[in-house]
Amino acid sequence: FMISKELDFAIRDIADFPKPGIIFKDITPILKDAKLCTAVIDEFVKQLEGIEIDVVAGIESRGFLFGLMLANRLQIPFVPIRKKGKLPFTTVEEPCELEYGSAILELHEDAIIPGQRVLIHDDLLATGGTVSAATRLVQKLDGVVAGYAFVISLDFLNANDKLKQVSQNIISLVSYK
Ligand code: 5GP
Repeated sequence: FMISKELDFAIRDIADFPKPGIIFKDITPILKDAKLCTAVIDEFVKQLEGIEIDVVAGIESRGFLFGLMLANRLQIPFVPIRKKGKLPFTTVEEPCELEYGSAILELHEDAIIPGQRVLIHDDLLATGGTVSAATRLVQKLDGVVAGYAFVISLDFLNANDKLKQVSQNIISLVSYK
């Protein structure tokens, strides 16, 4: 059993979504396979061994799926990072350069206690614009970025180099060259 192979087999390529010319990696078939979901969390836990984490921050909306499962497995808090206007309590915000446009991300101001070590999670790493904004949100609340965990990374976009300056702990379970 190789998790990267199993994931590659499950992930579905959708042509021309959300825009013509883009091939979208659809993770929903993973979610239909309960054993594979468990294997994803098992693998994250294994690769995170020895890294001190107090909080998992998951990015809207696909970052909520495995992010919450992981936080619950680790028995630590999960905090959602959302697009502007979705979070009900007082927030901090950061602009975010996206692959297909731009957005503003928010985090509740009480999501992180100063000094807490935060794992930033999203389903997929592309250009790194989204997790860079998430990084700045965590840092605004005086949290420490303990690492990054992705199900998928698109390595040809070279986002890793940028993230390494923040944390050496970058995990992705399947990468596309
Ligand atoms: P980045 O900011 O790194 O360029 O883009 C990553 C963000 O866009 C993530 O929040 C991710 O969910 C979303 N994203 C971009 N392309 C894809 C894709 O092909 N499949 C999935 N599932 N998400 C994508």
